[in-house]
Amino acid sequence: MWTTGTIIILTFFAAHWLGSVFSQTFFLHRYGAHRMFSMSKGWERFFYLVTYVTQGSSFLNPRGYAILHREHHAFIDTEQDPHSPVGYSNPMSMMLSTKARYDDYAYNRRSPEARFDGGYPSWPMLDRLGQSWTMRILWCVLYAGVYAAFADKWWLWLLLPIHFVMGPVHGAIVNWCGHRYGYANYNNGDQSRNSLFFDFVTFGELFQNNHHRFGMAPNFAVRWFEVDPGYLMIRLFKRLGIIEMPERVQKGRYPYRAPAQAAMPGAGVRPIV
Ligand SMILES: [Zn+2]
Ligand SMILES: [Zn+2]
Repeated sequence: MWTTGTIIILTFFAAHWLGSVFSQTFFLHRYGAHRMFSMSKGWERFFYLVTYVTQGSSFLNPRGYAILHREHHAFIDTEQDPHSPVGYSNPMSMMLSTKARYDDYAYNRRSPEARFDGGYPSWPMLDRLGQSWTMRILWCVLYAGVYAAFADKWWLWLLLPIHFVMGPVHGAIVNWCGHRYGYANYNNGDQSRNSLFFDFVTFGELFQNNHHRFGMAPNFAVRWFEVDPGYLMIRLFKRLGIIEMPERVQKGRYPYRAPAQAAMPGAGVRPIV
Protein backbone atom coordinates (compact mmCIF):
# COMPACT_ATOMS: atom_id res chain seq x y z
CA MET A 1 0.00 0.00 0.00
CA TRP A 2 2.53 2.64 1.16
CA THR A 3 4.98 2.50 -1.70
CA THR A 4 7.41 5.37 -2.22
CA GLY A 5 5.45 6.61 -5.24
CA THR A 6 2.17 6.70 -3.30
CA ILE A 7 3.79 8.54 -0.40
CA ILE A 8 5.35 11.11 -2.76
CA ILE A 9 2.01 11.79 -4.51
CA LEU A 10 0.02 12.04 -1.28
CA THR A 11 2.67 14.36 0.20
CA PHE A 12 2.60 16.48 -2.95
CA PHE A 13 -1.18 16.69 -2.75
CA ALA A 14 -1.16 17.61 0.95
CA ALA A 15 1.57 20.23 0.43
CA HIS A 16 -0.33 21.85 -2.46
CA TRP A 17 -3.61 21.78 -0.49
CA LEU A 18 -2.12 23.29 2.67
CA GLY A 19 0.02 25.83 0.81
CA SER A 20 -2.97 27.06 -1.17
CA VAL A 21 -5.19 27.20 1.94
CA PHE A 22 -2.51 29.13 3.81
CA SER A 23 -2.25 31.71 1.03
CA GLN A 24 -6.00 32.09 0.88
CA THR A 25 -6.62 32.58 4.58
CA PHE A 26 -3.46 34.48 5.53
CA PHE A 27 -2.76 36.65 2.51
CA LEU A 28 -5.94 36.97 0.45
CA HIS A 29 -8.51 36.93 3.24
CA ARG A 30 -7.12 38.25 6.53
CA TYR A 31 -4.50 40.58 5.02
CA GLY A 32 -5.83 41.56 1.57
CA ALA A 33 -9.57 41.71 2.15
CA HIS A 34 -9.69 42.69 5.85
CA ARG A 35 -6.31 44.33 6.56
CA MET A 36 -6.21 42.80 10.02
CA PHE A 37 -2.45 43.38 10.22
CA SER A 38 0.26 45.14 8.26
CA MET A 39 3.61 44.12 6.79
CA SER A 40 6.47 45.75 4.89
CA LYS A 41 6.35 46.07 1.10
CA GLY A 42 9.07 43.42 0.89
CA TRP A 43 7.08 40.85 2.90
CA GLU A 44 3.94 41.75 0.93
CA ARG A 45 5.74 40.92 -2.30
CA PHE A 46 7.09 37.71 -0.74
CA PHE A 47 3.63 36.48 0.27
CA TYR A 48 2.15 37.62 -3.07
CA LEU A 49 4.71 35.37 -4.74
CA VAL A 50 3.98 32.54 -2.27
CA THR A 51 0.30 32.89 -3.15
CA TYR A 52 1.06 32.62 -6.84
CA VAL A 53 3.32 29.58 -6.45
CA THR A 54 0.98 27.75 -4.04
CA GLN A 55 -2.17 28.43 -6.07
CA GLY A 56 -0.47 28.01 -9.45
CA SER A 57 -3.02 27.19 -12.14
CA SER A 58 -5.92 28.51 -10.04
CA PHE A 59 -4.27 31.72 -8.81
CA LEU A 60 -6.81 34.13 -7.30
CA ASN A 61 -5.90 37.76 -7.64
CA PRO A 62 -6.07 39.83 -4.42
CA ARG A 63 -8.29 42.55 -5.97
CA GLY A 64 -10.94 40.11 -7.19
CA TYR A 65 -10.81 38.16 -3.93
CA ALA A 66 -11.01 41.24 -1.68
CA ILE A 67 -13.92 42.93 -3.47
CA LEU A 68 -15.92 39.71 -3.69
CA HIS A 69 -15.28 38.92 -0.05
CA ARG A 70 -16.21 42.39 1.21
CA GLU A 71 -19.47 42.10 -0.74
CA HIS A 72 -20.04 38.73 0.94
CA HIS A 73 -19.73 40.32 4.39
CA ALA A 74 -21.96 43.26 3.51
CA PHE A 75 -24.70 41.30 1.72
CA ILE A 76 -24.40 38.02 3.57
CA ASP A 77 -26.87 35.32 2.50
CA THR A 78 -29.01 37.72 0.49
CA GLU A 79 -29.47 37.85 -3.28
CA GLN A 80 -26.56 40.31 -3.60
CA ASP A 81 -24.16 37.94 -1.79
CA PRO A 82 -21.67 36.73 -4.44
CA HIS A 83 -21.40 33.25 -2.93
CA SER A 84 -24.14 32.21 -0.56
CA PRO A 85 -25.46 28.64 -0.81
CA VAL A 86 -28.93 30.09 -0.29
CA GLY A 87 -30.71 29.85 -3.62
CA TYR A 88 -28.44 27.15 -5.12
CA SER A 89 -29.05 23.42 -5.14
CA ASN A 90 -25.37 22.42 -5.34
CA PRO A 91 -21.88 23.92 -4.86
CA MET A 92 -21.09 23.74 -8.58
CA SER A 93 -23.87 26.13 -9.67
CA MET A 94 -22.99 28.48 -6.80
CA MET A 95 -19.31 28.52 -7.80
CA LEU A 96 -20.04 29.11 -11.50
CA SER A 97 -22.02 32.21 -10.69
CA THR A 98 -19.32 33.29 -8.20
CA LYS A 99 -16.69 32.85 -10.91
CA ALA A 100 -18.49 35.21 -13.30
CA ARG A 101 -18.59 37.95 -10.67
CA TYR A 102 -15.00 37.28 -9.55
CA ASP A 103 -13.76 37.54 -13.18
CA ASP A 104 -15.49 40.91 -13.59
CA TYR A 105 -13.41 42.32 -10.72
CA ALA A 106 -10.21 40.34 -11.24
CA TYR A 107 -10.00 41.41 -14.91
CA ASN A 108 -11.16 44.99 -14.19
CA ARG A 109 -14.30 44.68 -16.29
CA ARG A 110 -16.51 46.16 -13.63
CA SER A 111 -16.08 48.72 -10.85
CA PRO A 112 -17.34 47.85 -7.39
CA GLU A 113 -19.09 50.21 -5.00
CA ALA A 114 -16.42 52.60 -3.67
CA ARG A 115 -16.67 51.20 -0.14
CA PHE A 116 -15.51 47.75 -1.32
CA ASP A 117 -12.57 49.01 -3.35
CA GLY A 118 -8.94 49.74 -2.46
CA GLY A 119 -6.57 48.69 0.26
CA TYR A 120 -5.69 45.32 -1.25
CA PRO A 121 -2.15 44.41 -2.36
CA SER A 122 -1.43 44.96 -6.03
CA TRP A 123 1.34 43.62 -8.28
CA PRO A 124 0.15 44.02 -11.88
CA MET A 125 2.99 42.03 -13.44
CA LEU A 126 2.39 39.01 -11.23
CA ASP A 127 -1.37 39.29 -11.77
CA ARG A 128 -0.83 39.19 -15.54
CA LEU A 129 1.39 36.13 -15.16
CA GLY A 130 -1.02 34.39 -12.80
CA GLN A 131 -4.01 35.10 -15.00
CA SER A 132 -2.39 34.14 -18.31
CA TRP A 133 -3.76 30.94 -19.80
CA THR A 134 -0.31 29.90 -20.99
CA MET A 135 0.95 29.88 -17.41
CA ARG A 136 -2.19 28.24 -16.05
CA ILE A 137 -1.76 25.41 -18.56
CA LEU A 138 1.96 25.10 -17.80
CA TRP A 139 1.15 24.66 -14.09
CA CYS A 140 -1.33 21.90 -15.00
CA VAL A 141 1.34 20.20 -17.12
CA LEU A 142 3.73 20.41 -14.16
CA TYR A 143 1.18 18.78 -11.82
CA ALA A 144 0.50 16.05 -14.37
CA GLY A 145 4.25 15.54 -14.77
CA VAL A 146 4.64 14.82 -11.05
CA TYR A 147 1.85 12.24 -11.30
CA ALA A 148 3.35 10.71 -14.43
CA ALA A 149 6.68 10.36 -12.63
CA PHE A 150 5.47 8.97 -9.31
CA ALA A 151 1.81 7.81 -9.32
CA ASP A 152 1.99 4.03 -9.03
CA LYS A 153 -1.71 3.35 -8.38
CA TRP A 154 -4.50 4.23 -10.77
CA TRP A 155 -6.65 5.83 -8.09
CA LEU A 156 -4.03 8.44 -7.30
CA TRP A 157 -4.84 10.03 -10.67
CA LEU A 158 -8.31 10.88 -9.31
CA LEU A 159 -6.60 13.58 -7.24
CA LEU A 160 -5.01 15.31 -10.24
CA PRO A 161 -8.02 17.45 -11.32
CA ILE A 162 -8.20 18.91 -7.79
CA HIS A 163 -4.72 20.42 -8.29
CA PHE A 164 -5.99 22.27 -11.39
CA VAL A 165 -8.70 24.14 -9.45
CA MET A 166 -7.28 24.09 -5.92
CA GLY A 167 -8.17 27.72 -5.03
CA PRO A 168 -11.84 27.47 -6.12
CA VAL A 169 -12.14 24.04 -4.42
CA HIS A 170 -11.25 25.65 -1.11
CA GLY A 171 -13.63 28.51 -1.84
CA ALA A 172 -16.43 26.03 -2.55
CA ILE A 173 -15.79 24.11 0.70
CA VAL A 174 -15.76 27.26 2.83
CA ASN A 175 -18.64 29.04 1.14
CA TRP A 176 -20.89 26.01 0.89
CA CYS A 177 -20.17 24.08 4.11
CA GLY A 178 -19.51 27.20 6.20
CA HIS A 179 -22.99 28.51 5.47
CA ARG A 180 -24.79 25.17 5.68
CA TYR A 181 -23.24 22.58 8.01
CA GLY A 182 -22.21 22.81 11.64
CA TYR A 183 -23.13 24.73 14.75
CA ALA A 184 -23.64 28.41 15.52
CA ASN A 185 -22.25 30.28 18.53
CA TYR A 186 -24.10 33.46 17.56
CA ASN A 187 -27.34 34.42 15.96
CA ASN A 188 -26.02 36.75 13.26
CA GLY A 189 -29.26 36.76 11.31
CA ASP A 190 -27.52 34.78 8.53
CA GLN A 191 -26.82 31.14 7.65
CA SER A 192 -23.17 31.07 8.80
CA ARG A 193 -21.95 28.02 10.72
CA ASN A 194 -18.80 26.69 12.38
CA SER A 195 -18.21 23.39 10.61
CA LEU A 196 -15.25 21.96 12.60
CA PHE A 197 -13.77 22.37 16.09
CA PHE A 198 -10.20 22.12 14.81
CA ASP A 199 -10.18 23.40 11.28
CA PHE A 200 -7.17 21.59 9.85
CA VAL A 201 -8.89 21.48 6.42
CA THR A 202 -8.98 25.22 5.64
CA PHE A 203 -6.85 26.71 8.49
CA GLY A 204 -9.72 28.45 10.28
CA GLU A 205 -11.96 29.47 7.38
CA LEU A 206 -14.63 27.03 8.49
CA PHE A 207 -15.41 29.14 11.57
CA GLN A 208 -17.75 31.21 9.41
CA ASN A 209 -20.26 31.84 12.21
CA ASN A 210 -17.59 33.34 14.49
CA HIS A 211 -16.00 35.27 11.63
CA HIS A 212 -19.26 36.89 10.53
CA ARG A 213 -19.91 37.95 14.11
CA PHE A 214 -16.41 39.41 14.61
CA GLY A 215 -15.36 40.24 11.06
CA MET A 216 -12.19 42.11 12.01
CA ALA A 217 -10.92 39.68 14.67
CA PRO A 218 -7.74 37.87 13.52
CA ASN A 219 -8.65 34.83 15.66
CA PHE A 220 -11.60 32.98 14.10
CA ALA A 221 -11.82 30.63 17.10
CA VAL A 222 -13.87 31.90 20.03
CA ARG A 223 -14.64 29.07 22.44
CA TRP A 224 -12.10 27.08 24.44
CA PHE A 225 -12.41 23.97 22.30
CA GLU A 226 -12.05 25.79 18.96
CA VAL A 227 -8.64 25.93 17.26
CA ASP A 228 -7.85 28.26 14.35
CA PRO A 229 -4.48 27.21 12.83
CA GLY A 230 -4.41 30.36 10.66
CA TYR A 231 -4.40 32.52 13.79
CA LEU A 232 -1.60 30.45 15.35
CA MET A 233 0.52 31.21 12.27
CA ILE A 234 -0.35 34.90 12.48
CA ARG A 235 0.81 34.94 16.10
CA LEU A 236 4.05 33.27 15.10
CA PHE A 237 4.64 35.76 12.26
CA LYS A 238 4.01 38.61 14.67
CA ARG A 239 6.50 37.19 17.14
CA LEU A 240 9.06 36.84 14.37
CA GLY A 241 8.52 40.48 13.33
CA ILE A 242 7.14 39.56 9.90
CA ILE A 243 3.81 41.30 10.47
CA GLU A 244 2.62 44.11 12.71
CA MET A 245 -0.62 44.08 14.63
CA PRO A 246 -1.47 46.22 17.67
CA GLU A 247 -2.32 44.22 20.77
CA ARG A 248 -5.85 45.66 20.95
CA VAL A 249 -6.49 44.46 17.38
CA GLN A 250 -5.04 41.02 18.07
CA LYS A 251 -7.17 40.52 21.17
CA GLY A 252 -10.20 42.59 20.11
CA ARG A 253 -13.40 41.20 18.73
CA TYR A 254 -14.45 43.80 16.23
CA PRO A 255 -17.39 43.62 13.85
CA TYR A 256 -16.86 43.73 10.09
CA ARG A 257 -16.21 47.10 8.49
CA ALA A 258 -15.59 47.92 4.85
CA PRO A 259 -11.96 49.16 4.59
CA ALA A 260 -13.06 52.62 3.41
CA GLN A 261 -14.65 53.17 6.82
CA ALA A 262 -11.32 53.23 8.69
CA ALA A 263 -7.67 53.42 7.77
CA MET A 264 -6.52 50.89 10.35
CA PRO A 265 -8.10 47.73 11.68
CA GLY A 266 -10.00 48.52 14.82
CA ALA A 267 -9.56 52.29 14.49
CA GLY A 268 -12.40 54.15 16.14
CA VAL A 269 -14.50 51.03 16.54
CA ARG A 270 -15.43 49.60 19.91
CA PRO A 271 -15.11 45.87 20.28
CA ILE A 272 -18.35 43.95 20.76
CA VAL A 273 -16.99 42.05 23.76
ZN1 LIG B 1 -19.15 33.61 4.97
ZN1 LIG C 1 -13.95 37.72 5.97
